[in-house]
Amino acid sequence: MKIILASGNKGKIKEIQNFYKNSEVLPYTKFTKKFDIVEDGLSYKENAIIKAKAVYEKIKDAVDEDFVVLSDDSGITVCALGNIPGIYSARYAGEEASDKDNLNKLIDELKNKKLKKTAAFYTAAMAIIGKRGSFTVHGWMHGDVIDEARGNKGFGYDPMFIPEGFDKTLGELDEDVKKRISHRTKALSLAKNIINLL
Ligand code: IMP
Repeated sequence: MKIILASGNKGKIKEIQNFYKNSEVLPYTKFTKKFDIVEDGLSYKENAIIKAKAVYEKIKDAVDEDFVVLSDDSGITVCALGNIPGIYSARYAGEEASDKDNLNKLIDELKNKKLKKTAAFYTAAMAIIGKRGSFTVHGWMHGDVIDEARGNKGFGYDPMFIPEGFDKTLGELDEDVKKRISHRTKALSLAKNIINLL
């Protein structure tokens, strides 16, 4: 069974391919040109379904083998800042913002509020769409964000995120640590059970 990812985010693609080492995991851009998807859902789950559906409809006639489309909508929530940026994590510093712009904006926001270290969590919602229907799962990772970037491993907000039980950021910790405990790994483990039944 092919797993086709409804994402163009290199960090996510790498982590998902790493998780499903024994399956063929391909970005949807192997089957069609990259296209814009309007993510106007009000939750991670709604946006995950929007992405998976859009890609499934676009590629279903171009793939001849059995396949599922897997999407990931994810982000970070900082409790002391009123639960931002949440579902707007990818566009926190503007529509065309890079990961670095978003990271720097969140650091600035913590500095403005004089928060050196404060509770935060990552969420990943995934939608799985195949011939036999559509399914969703979630995973979370709790910890703290700090008002500086440390290390360059991972992607996105990882250099400012210290997972619970650690004293280093995901930018500094070995990538195997993130692979063991991340929101994405937790959601992927649940998705795997579903994919195995399809
Ligand atoms: P999406 O592609 O619309 O789901 O946006 C995800 C956003 O959340 C991007 O800005 C990512 O940088 C951020 N994000 C999601 N998962 C992670 C992660 O595992 N590490 C760091 N940033 C993440």
